[in-house]
Amino acid sequence: MAKHPVPKQKKPKNKSKTRYGSFKTSVLKRLTNSVNLSICPDCKSKHLAHTVCQECGKYRGRQVTDKQKEIEKITKIKA
Ligand SMILES: [Zn+2]
Repeated sequence: MAKHPVPKQKKPKNKSKTRYGSFKTSVLKRLTNSVNLSICPDCKSKHLAHTVCQECGKYRGRQVTDKQKEIEKITKIKA
């Protein structure tokens, strides 16, 4: 005889899917609330607070990283 709880019947796929779906949304909600996102004043995209914007490379209105230069660095081959 089994000592642990054994389900009487097999649960339908949809039942387990809905249970997992509600768990997923709750976890996502908690994560989005814990991460402090702020909106960039220049390009209006969301980025982490106190960090450089990944879209335009600006921090507090100052240009910190140049995306074009970074792309050139990666693609340029030194001969
Ligand atoms: Zn930006």
